[in-house]
Amino acid sequence: MTRLAPSPTGALHLGNARTFLVTWALARQRGFRVVMRIEDLDSPRVKPGAVESILGTFRWLGMDWDNPEPLVQSRDLEPYRAAIRILAARGLVYPCSLTRTEIEAAASAPQEGSHETSYPRHLRPALKSLDFDGVDRGTGPEGTNWRFAVPDRPVPFDDDFAGPQSPDISRIVGDFVVWTRRGQPAYQLAVVVDDHRQGVTSVIRGDDLLDSAARQLLLYRALGLAPEPRHMHLPLVLGRDGKRLAKRHGDTRVEHYRSLGVPPGAVVGLVAGWCGCTEEGSGRREMSTAEFVRALDSSSIPRTPVVFGPEDDQWLLAQAGS
Ligand code: GLU
Repeated sequence: MTRLAPSPTGALHLGNARTFLVTWALARQRGFRVVMRIEDLDSPRVKPGAVESILGTFRWLGMDWDNPEPLVQSRDLEPYRAAIRILAARGLVYPCSLTRTEIEAAASAPQEGSHETSYPRHLRPALKSLDFDGVDRGTGPEGTNWRFAVPDRPVPFDDDFAGPQSPDISRIVGDFVVWTRRGQPAYQLAVVVDDHRQGVTSVIRGDDLLDSAARQLLLYRALGLAPEPRHMHLPLVLGRDGKRLAKRHGDTRVEHYRSLGVPPGAVVGLVAGWCGCTEEGSGRREMSTAEFVRALDSSSIPRTPVVFGPEDDQWLLAQAGS
C-alpha cells in the first residue's frame, strides 16, 4: 500500500507531477493499493481551489486511487491529538514557547545549509510524563509548540532508492516541533499517524524529505507503531540554475500546458524520459499511463536530479494539437 499525499499549496507543476506519477506507476506495477491524502494542515499556505486543481490534474494524466473519498487531514484532528497525548504521557515531548529568534540566539553556531535552526539541546527541560490537554489549556489562545525529545544517536534505515542512510537528527534539527502553537499537528506527526492508519507500507516521494523519514521513524518507534514503512526517495526536478523547480523557471504548471492543448500523454512521456524509460535512439514520445507502468524500471531512474530546460518546454508545446 502506498499513498499520494499532495499539499494543496498551489497547482501541480512538472516537478511534483513527476514524483506523483512515479509513485503511482511503481505502486500499480507492484500491485499495491494507492490511497489519496490531502495534507492541508499547513493552513497559511493552503490555497483555495488547489485540492480540486491537483485531483483534476491527476485524473487528466490518467492516474487513479483506491479510496473514493481522500483523507483530508484538517477534517478531524482527533487521531493526531490521540497520538500527542500518548507522547506527552510517555514523557517524550514537551511544550516550548520560545520564538524562532530566541532559539536562534541560543544556538551557538548557525547551521550551514539548513532552513531549520537546529534546536539547542540545552534548551530541553527535564522530561516528565505530562497531560497534554491539561498543559495545553491555560497557555493562552495561541497555544504552544510541543517538541519531540530526539534521541542522541543516528537513525539508520535503508532507502530503496537512495541506499543506506544514517542521519543524526539530534544534530541536524534537534528537538523538532510535533504540535504547533496553532493547535495542529506538525507535518512529521500527521504523516506518521496517517501512514499508520491508512496502512501505508511503502512511502515514495522526493528526496527533499529524506531527513524527514528518519524523524518519522523516530515517531513510529516512540508511539510503538508497526510495521514501519519502507522508503524510496527520488531526486527532484531542478531548473537550469540547479534550484528546485519553482515560479522563477516560468510557468511549469501541468494546467498551463493543458490549457495550451498539450495532451496528457506528452506530460507522461516527458516524465518517462526523465525516468530513463525511453528506448535508446527513439527519443521522447507520448505515452499513456498504462504504458508508463509497463516501461518504468526503478533501477533505470537516474540517481542525479533531473534538469528541466527550455527544450523540454518546447517539446511539450510541440505536442499540442499533434
Ligand atoms: N505533502 C508533501 C508534498 O506534497 C508530501 C509529504 C510526504 O510524501 O510525506 O510535498
